[in-house]
Amino acid sequence: MESQKQFKRRFSFEFFPPKTDQGKEKLQVVRDRLAEVNPDFFSVTFGAGGSTRDRTIETVLSLHGQGISTAPHLSCVGGTREKIAELLDIYKESGVSRIVALRGDMPSGMGAAGELRYANELVAFIREYSGDAFNLEVAAYPEFHPQARNAEEDLKNFARKVEAGANSAITQYFFNADSYFYYIDRLEKMGITIPVVPGIMPIVNFSSLVRFSDMCGAEIPRWIRKQLEAYGDDSDSIRKFGEEVVTDMCERLLAAGAPGLHFYTLNQAEASLNIWNNLGLANRDKISF
Ligand code: FAD
Repeated sequence: MESQKQFKRRFSFEFFPPKTDQGKEKLQVVRDRLAEVNPDFFSVTFGAGGSTRDRTIETVLSLHGQGISTAPHLSCVGGTREKIAELLDIYKESGVSRIVALRGDMPSGMGAAGELRYANELVAFIREYSGDAFNLEVAAYPEFHPQARNAEEDLKNFARKVEAGANSAITQYFFNADSYFYYIDRLEKMGITIPVVPGIMPIVNFSSLVRFSDMCGAEIPRWIRKQLEAYGDDSDSIRKFGEEVVTDMCERLLAAGAPGLHFYTLNQAEASLNIWNNLGLANRDKISF
């Protein structure tokens, strides 16, 4: 973990672009609550194949204009260089300085793969087109990407994104801190020393967590799954237990030198804020983890 200790810690919250007016109003309330704790940035996801393109732009520009720097996610699957360049122009003109560059996932049966096949090609294209205008974040997978040929290939593919010009990374969520420590160790041995910020998924709903984890290849350890299962419909107990488990993991990560945390908020403030407060992040410049 030595490589990670040199970086200033940064803390961020991720949103998805709301579909309805009601969703927009709700996000505004969530945004205001989270802005109070003064995160380093917000980020906004981008639907596969550009399906949320306009909503992502609208949400990014609205949040960015309200004072907390906001990073759009941009995925290349199903897109063309021309369309991606259009987005880069819009973001550059609006003063956006950070982009989360991804391949994305095309829903099965929907369209062609696009001109850029993998995230390393997207990073290279952004560097070619926009130079150093953006700080580029890429995705990292401590439990490995579900489509990777094997763990070694996945590490090499991560290295490709760094070689192409990524500045830092955010991980897929995990509930096993050791997978992150081991991953960082492997990267260090490969000479990769960019910040790799753990992505944190607060536990609020058991069935959706299981569905989502199956899809993205994140493991819910048996002891957590069994305990959550035992709570059945008791959502208060699920939240309380989830908060404890995730807070403990974050404490371990930060104590070991993780360069910050990125919260997958699912457009809800409460669960992320509870973890934030448990960790004492309001005074993050003063505490030593
Ligand atoms: P890549 O880095 O391209 O990797 C994809 C797979 O291909 C891996 O298995 C890798 O090993 C392999 N691979 C990579 N490069 C090569 C190569 N050159 N040759 C052969 N194989 C290769 N999805 C969205 O749709 N919208 C979002 O906003 C979004 N935000 C995300 C944010 C974070 C922080 C994370 C961790 C994920 C996010 N995702 C999002 C999910 C992500 O798009 C998927 O996990 C997707 O399947 C992979 O994207 P990637 O950028 O990691 O792809």
